[in-house]
Amino acid sequence: SQRLASVSTAPPDSILGLTEAFLADTNPNKMNLSVGVYKDASGKTPILECVKEAERRLIDDESTKGYLGIDGLPAYREHVRQLVFGDRVEADRIAVLQSPGGTGALRVASDFLVTQLSPIRIWMSSPTWANHPAIFNAAGLPSDTYRYLGSDRTSFDVDAMIEDLDTKTSPGDAILLHACCHNPTGIDPTPDQWKQIAETVAMRQLLPLIDFAYQGFGDGLTEDTLGLYTLLDAVDEAIVCTSFSKNFGLYSERVGAVCLIAADAGAMKASQSQLKAIVRSNYSNPPRHGGAIVATVLDDAKLTDQWKGEVEQMRQRITRLRTDFVTTMKTTGQGHDFSFLLPQRGMFSFSGLTPMQVDQLKQKHGIYIVGSGRINVAGMSEEKMQQLCDAVAAVLE
Ligand code: PMP
Repeated sequence: SQRLASVSTAPPDSILGLTEAFLADTNPNKMNLSVGVYKDASGKTPILECVKEAERRLIDDESTKGYLGIDGLPAYREHVRQLVFGDRVEADRIAVLQSPGGTGALRVASDFLVTQLSPIRIWMSSPTWANHPAIFNAAGLPSDTYRYLGSDRTSFDVDAMIEDLDTKTSPGDAILLHACCHNPTGIDPTPDQWKQIAETVAMRQLLPLIDFAYQGFGDGLTEDTLGLYTLLDAVDEAIVCTSFSKNFGLYSERVGAVCLIAADAGAMKASQSQLKAIVRSNYSNPPRHGGAIVATVLDDAKLTDQWKGEVEQMRQRITRLRTDFVTTMKTTGQGHDFSFLLPQRGMFSFSGLTPMQVDQLKQKHGIYIVGSGRINVAGMSEEKMQQLCDAVAAVLE
């Protein structure tokens, strides 16, 4: 008998599905501002120079493709610890496991919460990256949302967030926070708001799961740790999921880490052993190449400087494009004020466009953005800025 005949088709991934529609679109002026990848002035997602150099060295020097340990390359793990935590937290309280991207880290963390700390529920901002609830669901981790975006859809409503945390969470619940460059809104808490959040997280005895996928894309590699450190000053325990997809441009190499901070070395060791057990029965051990690239760059002072410069360039280009968009929008039609975008950080901006306007942009102008109105600023170009702004103005009028 045919077992598979009863399988129904899964709904397409909402964002990757848009790219399929984009590729099929015959409009010569089409523009894809949906998927979260960085593009340079020529529209390409480049390989960083420091990465190319590290790869050349690896080709010459790499001596084995033997398995890595379950928790990955030791040199890589040590660099992640230094880059993310500096000397803010004692090294013997942090377990770092190399993971297949930030997504892999989030999945391992979710499995850990379910297997070690159930009953537990995780609270996510509304809105959040669409894959967050999907990963939690897949792991069997119950999730719920706290308010984040204000009713104007262009600002952060910290009071609503705190009220939800104060009134809805139970002690021991987990809370998902975006360390910087909130996806999809681009709106981050201010330093004072981070303090308020950290106090509430501590008071409600919540376990923070911090998604740190965009270090360096907000205000700078060091500056972007502000929210994380404010939290770590307030609590003894946290899980941080990091990714080098964006800041090293290593999207397809799948390089990230799950970092667990415990109150002391003993508790860290026990949790680390459980994390390793989770990895062993999932993907067994992480891929070597991407981690080796990052370790090669960060082992070498010159390559590290080069990397920091390249991150800075990407960050500044995104800021420039965001500003250009706001300036150009002012010149369209009777003038449109998008200055609320200026404090937004990271690859994405929430434009405030409605699902209907988003649909018109696609149908009439071949411009693809996500239904929520999230625009990938890093996908804009100077060359097509006028065309983009004219189209946005047309659907607004
Ligand atoms: N978290 C957020 C908020 C993201 O936007 C992304 C990438 N889109 C990730 C995590 C993970 O990315 P990756 O698995 O490619 O490292």
